Amino acid sequence: MIKILSIVLLILINSGCAVFSPDKGDYLQTDVTRTNSDISVQFMGVSNLSITDGDSTILLDGFFTRRSALFSYCKHGMNSDESAVGHYIEKTQIPHIDALLTSHAHFDHILDSSTVLKIFNTQDRLKHRVPTTVYGSEESISFIRNQWEENAIKSDTNLVTPLFEKLKNGNRYTVGNFQIQALETPHVRKNGAKMFGENLFTCFRGGNFKKETPNFSFLISTKSQNKFNNDTNQSLRQPKILVIPSANIRKGDLEGVNADVVFLGIGLLKPEDVQDYWDNTVKVVNAKLVIPIHWDNFYKPLTKRLTSGPNLLLHTDRVVAKLYKLAERKLGTDIAFMPIFEYVTLPRYEDQYGITKSTHQ
Ligand SMILES: [Zn+2]
Repeated sequence: MIKILSIVLLILINSGCAVFSPDKGDYLQTDVTRTNSDISVQFMGVSNLSITDGDSTILLDGFFTRRSALFSYCKHGMNSDESAVGHYIEKTQIPHIDALLTSHAHFDHILDSSTVLKIFNTQDRLKHRVPTTVYGSEESISFIRNQWEENAIKSDTNLVTPLFEKLKNGNRYTVGNFQIQALETPHVRKNGAKMFGENLFTCFRGGNFKKETPNFSFLISTKSQNKFNNDTNQSLRQPKILVIPSANIRKGDLEGVNADVVFLGIGLLKPEDVQDYWDNTVKVVNAKLVIPIHWDNFYKPLTKRLTSGPNLLLHTDRVVAKLYKLAERKLGTDIAFMPIFEYVTLPRYEDQYGITKSTHQ
């Protein structure tokens, strides 16, 4: 029975069923007319994001291996593809990562963590900088630490051991000019069919990562100064960024949180759950810009154009259409997709509570 189901599923996936991909005009661009912040973000598929103010850089997750769905994981096992990771990291042109934030201990988030750390934490590369601090749940840290130790034993480069810090819900962490708050939010629900699909695509090896594991979202802000806009008589602050890597939320999880830009994970989100998800994330935090992430099929390499998995199975087209509809209703909220391997500078936002020019003088 499993064999027949597998064959049907594989035929479905390879039969060219319709997939979602953003149109040209759907991508976020740095708008020359707006006031830019000091913060730039680069997207590299799934929930990989690098966020920098030009001085400090945060990398979120960092999964690049993306082996193909058919037999690749059977052939190579659930191992990081070190040469692919090296190639993509070079493409990002990131000089150093001060913090590696890991959302949860699943392979599409942490499989490559120790390879990424190995690239950035050599004596040659670090020079006067401190090694990367890895933030994550106990499960993520223990996986990454084990991989690191194996890597370090095998490696002949002058590796410098990274620092590890276990995340606690609500705690704040300082990374250079960035302030990061960890918010424990639930993982997206996976039904039997989706679990089966994932098992099949990973040659029944992804299951090593299947433990119930805490998942974290991140609220990221910066200490940098406000700017005053003479035209509008408004104080403009740096954007507050919220990253929600896994598409699930409980009512009240984000109570009291404010964010201008939300990187919204939509992987495995069901169309019928979009409204609730939106209400308890984008609406609650009063976001002005929503950037869907984790929408792409991570069984395809990053050298190919990003597309979702088959709409027939995942309904990404319907989920995205619903998001656009909700944004239309919420005046002042935009939706845009990130291009890959391109830094986009985020705008500043009006600060109602900021110091105005008159009180400043
Ligand atoms: Zn996961």
